[in-house]
Amino acid sequence: MAQRTLIRGGHIISMDPEIGDIPGGDLLIEGEEIAAVAPSVEASGCEVVDASGAIVIPGFVDSHRHTWETSARGIAPDVTLDGYFDLVLDRIAPAYRPEDVYAGNLLGALEAVDSGITTLLDWSHINNTPDHADEAIRALSEVGIRAVYCYGNPNTSLADWWFESTLKAPEDIRRVRDRYFSSDKGLMTLAMGTRGPGFCTPEVVRHDWELAREIGVPISVHVGMGPVAGRFRMVEQLHDLGLLGPDTTYIHCNHLTDREFQLIAETGGTVSIAPMVEMTMGHGIPPTGEVLAHGLRPSLSCDVVTSVPGDPFTQMRFLFAAERMRVHQRIFDEELEEVPPLLSSRDVLEFATIEGARVCGLTDRTGSLTPGKKADVVMLSIERVNAAPVTDPVGTVVCSMDTSNVDSVWVNGRALKRGGSLLGFDLERARRLAEDSRDHLVSHVERLPHWATPRTTGL
Ligand SMILES: [Zn+2]
Repeated sequence: MAQRTLIRGGHIISMDPEIGDIPGGDLLIEGEEIAAVAPSVEASGCEVVDASGAIVIPGFVDSHRHTWETSARGIAPDVTLDGYFDLVLDRIAPAYRPEDVYAGNLLGALEAVDSGITTLLDWSHINNTPDHADEAIRALSEVGIRAVYCYGNPNTSLADWWFESTLKAPEDIRRVRDRYFSSDKGLMTLAMGTRGPGFCTPEVVRHDWELAREIGVPISVHVGMGPVAGRFRMVEQLHDLGLLGPDTTYIHCNHLTDREFQLIAETGGTVSIAPMVEMTMGHGIPPTGEVLAHGLRPSLSCDVVTSVPGDPFTQMRFLFAAERMRVHQRIFDEELEEVPPLLSSRDVLEFATIEGARVCGLTDRTGSLTPGKKADVVMLSIERVNAAPVTDPVGTVVCSMDTSNVDSVWVNGRALKRGGSLLGFDLERARRLAEDSRDHLVSHVERLPHWATPRTTGL
């Protein structure tokens, strides 16, 4: 008989409209799946977890993160987007060895689980050799997180891969598809990260989109961000090439025109917003309002831990504040007498859970606490000083909590974190591998910024 776990007496925020919120509710996990969610569940022969001091939610979904960059965490706090391309993609990425990708993905996936992220789209544009892809997948698989491995381009030189590039996406994705992802039903699935118009010639764009569709995997592309790509009209160009479709996720979207948002909506595309990085690096204002105005619902992403934290709470709050700030400013500037609809904390929690699952194409298995879905469940403690007392549980999660409240995390029915600690992982090893990798990277990079001088901090 499958292992059973009864999470008893928690404040359940199911994110399933038919189940809603259940104060003091029970959730039963059976094997890999959620077996029941109700005010009271009777079950025998199971482990009982007392959730009376906790809020129970579906696991968070991060719909876009370059997890390999975890080895270079914090190396670029002060850069613009151009500075990031120069430092991280042109100088650091070429120095990455397969073991650096393993170290980055291992620590990055552990960090994600620790902060309550149960599904991670790993946008892996570090496939400098086939071994790089193998090591990225090995690390994700060892952690046991639900992952979309988003196979991206190599980064051996900015000039080769990003400036009107004539280099097509590597054919190695076919090997990766056959070797690791022959089924789309597993804990890990495959997507393809493409560069898109402006970064590549139209011939390369067409080739890459057709390759993804030929092997039957979804597509993810950065569009409309920053002073350069913000003017490419990438979605218009994709439309002219006849390539828009419901299998594509558009990341950032800061400087899209109304017509481009309309084209995404009409063709069934999805959106990922990475609010903190967009605000600090100069991608543009997080486009939450425009996305919603076109009938789309965005998901959230961390993007890069070289510049921002890797937890979902930070992203939720940046998006919440940025969108409300934009509307409040409009009320003032236009002297509006009636207050337009303001984004709610529940909207933001939806973006971070069920909408993330939708964007990743995984609503059949995650994103809400629904019987029959896989058991991706997070238990958040309200007993820490930053969360008590609780009046509005959704508001508490979105506006008050952080990773320190993440008490327990189940992915696919398996407990990866309990009692505030990750289970069964050699965290010392993961940290040491990332530090060794960091030392290799900074010692092989010329013209490092002053703050990244090796060993000046002794850390
Ligand atoms: Zn990105």
